[in-house]
Amino acid sequence: MNFTNKSIILKQRPLGKVSANCFEYQESSVRDLIEGEILVSNAYVSLDPAIRGWMNEGTTYIKGSPIGEPMRAFAIGEVVLSKNKNFEVGQIVQGLLGVQTLAISNGQGLSKCDISQSSISAHLGVLGMPGMTAYFGLLERGQPKPNETVFISGAAGVVGATAGQIAKIKGCRVVGSAGGKEKCDYLLSIGFDEVIDYKSEDLVSAIKEKIPEGISVFYDNVGGETLDAGLANLAIGARVVICGAISQYNESSIQGPKNYMKIVTARGNMTGIIVFDFLERYPEAVSQISEWLLEGKLKHKEHIVEGIHNFYKALTMLFEGKNFGKLLLKL
Ligand code: NAP
Repeated sequence: MNFTNKSIILKQRPLGKVSANCFEYQESSVRDLIEGEILVSNAYVSLDPAIRGWMNEGTTYIKGSPIGEPMRAFAIGEVVLSKNKNFEVGQIVQGLLGVQTLAISNGQGLSKCDISQSSISAHLGVLGMPGMTAYFGLLERGQPKPNETVFISGAAGVVGATAGQIAKIKGCRVVGSAGGKEKCDYLLSIGFDEVIDYKSEDLVSAIKEKIPEGISVFYDNVGGETLDAGLANLAIGARVVICGAISQYNESSIQGPKNYMKIVTARGNMTGIIVFDFLERYPEAVSQISEWLLEGKLKHKEHIVEGIHNFYKALTMLFEGKNFGKLLLKL
């Protein structure tokens, strides 16, 4: 059978802001599979802020996406050919399958997805890598206790909204910051106790006013000035979870925290999370989050952009706050 793959190739690495000429659209014939390989027809590609990091040369946790190859990204799809006894044709799988319509894989790092009780796209969001990040970042790194106050920046994104709802399930008071009234209203509708629209309120004074008791768990997705604003109002024994720093990803030099001495006076700690460190425990989180979804205790929202040609446009939406919910590219 003849298959044509459509892909978005990483042509060059950006310096600072991503530009359209970092990518190139390409069509190519799919080669024959060798023993152990499968061919996956991708249905959705996940637009994650991490893609910006993967466009760089590399970090301590993962090498950069190779130049000349399909851009690294999570994707979900159906196995259409199999020479691997662990994967049957028709199986739904997700993993780092790249920005392309057809992906050859040896199966390593792929998860099999049960879509009997959820949409296929949910496995890239609340039941996928971002959901795992929220679950383990909050529970393992943040260690929230009932009645403590959890502050989440970037709260209207999939990671933030999921972490906030998990904190509510665990009996915490939850405050989130997001850009704009629509996103803030959404957060209140899914159970956040208080919200801060950082685009129309001064973050430092709003945090002081809405969290007079101080922040016990600060789950930071934004970094930069937002990180400093949260650090300024920590409760004694606070845990600061550095999940991401989306305000900094397009900067050529990263702004570090000025208020770090607040960790000392709060007798607190600041810790990072890399979701891949919890790979072996993903099934536990998928099963628990699925249960909360079915019980209606946890809600999720998706923002779908159609067509592989819109990859660059969709990617930039993340950094301009134009996505409202888990951003996905439908192929
Ligand atoms: P997301 O929140 O859906 O998308 C990005 C959102 O960030 C935008 O919609 C925008 O929301 C906000 N934003 C963008 N630029 C901003 C800026 N300059 N200042 C303030 N807010 C800004 O993305 P996500 O998938 O849920 O990811 C959230 C964070 O988790 C990211 O930092 C990501 O890197 C991190 N993450 C970490 C791991 C890990 O293992 N450590 C894994 C997954 C994700 P507003 O409209 O509200 O501004």
